[in-house]
Amino acid sequence: MTGKAQERPRHGVKDEPQQSPPDNERYSRQVLFPGIGPEGQRKLAAAHVAIVGCGATGSALAGLLARAGVGTLRIIDRDYVEPSNLQRQSLFDEADAAESLPKAVAAARKIAAFNSQTVVDPRVDDLVPGNIEALLEGANLLLDGTDNFETRYLINDYAAKHSLPWIYSAAVGSYAVTMNVVPGQTACLACIFPDSPRGMVETCETAGILNSAVNLVASIAATEALKILAGGVASPRLRRTLLSFDVWTNEHAQISAAKPREGCRACGQRDFVHLAGEGRPHITLCGRNSVQIHERHRPIDFSEMDRRLQPHGTVRHNDFVLKFWHDPYEITLFPDGRAIIKGTTDTAVARSLYARYVGS
Ligand SMILES: [Zn+2]
Repeated sequence: MTGKAQERPRHGVKDEPQQSPPDNERYSRQVLFPGIGPEGQRKLAAAHVAIVGCGATGSALAGLLARAGVGTLRIIDRDYVEPSNLQRQSLFDEADAAESLPKAVAAARKIAAFNSQTVVDPRVDDLVPGNIEALLEGANLLLDGTDNFETRYLINDYAAKHSLPWIYSAAVGSYAVTMNVVPGQTACLACIFPDSPRGMVETCETAGILNSAVNLVASIAATEALKILAGGVASPRLRRTLLSFDVWTNEHAQISAAKPREGCRACGQRDFVHLAGEGRPHITLCGRNSVQIHERHRPIDFSEMDRRLQPHGTVRHNDFVLKFWHDPYEITLFPDGRAIIKGTTDTAVARSLYARYVGS
């Protein structure tokens, strides 16, 4: 904050105690809204929200909540920015793509530029059973910015186990869907979808994606998040349905999700099979011809690796990622040993490239 801003007269504020929670002027229009008010705004400042996945939906959620004054955002994402993201991933720009910045890091930088009061805790990591407790610890609300059901079931198990609210959001093509999950009150994801709806679900790779579908679902989910943070999970204003809409055909639907399904594996029997899972050593990423390897958790010295790979292709690195091009493959390495291998969907090929160039 500049000295100039502090000198500005505090219009019409008589004998009001110094408001420690943030910047009255910044949030004045939001505080005027009766659903938030000064008390709600203070609760937002004290809140800690985790956003899992910072692609299109995660970017929009993080941008809206940071501007609304949520105090702490933990942004978890395993990926780096690419030119094809810029059509819809609103926190990133061309410089981020040119640098191949990890999305979590790029998001933290961008948010700091428009709201330095929000504490952003970027985690460049893939949420898996082995790290979920550490990555989500301390959050009061979990938001879904992921692109796969496997991670969503993991979040659902974690949320049920710790009795934390979370909001499911997804968008593909022109279609978007969202649901609030409040353990002990509403249905959970496994109540509605006991198994991953594999056959019927298209991906961004096959169906493409409209940025407006993403922004609409993120706006709805961010508003539900504000209701939870400002008014608590008992708020009568919380939506208790699975809401879906298609921004192209204008079809929309709501299915009641007000009650848990009897006998639900997750929230009823508390059988947290996804939390107990063995993780996913290889994953094919959405929208790309690539495989992720994260089974070998070991620190990588980028300078040394850069030297080692020089004779085999083109190498480039910054503090966050190392990229290695060896036609027709592109290997992106993260400091913890995780890799994204582009140019194949064959996990055996990816594994052998990893072993050959990074080490086994
Ligand atoms: Zn359930």
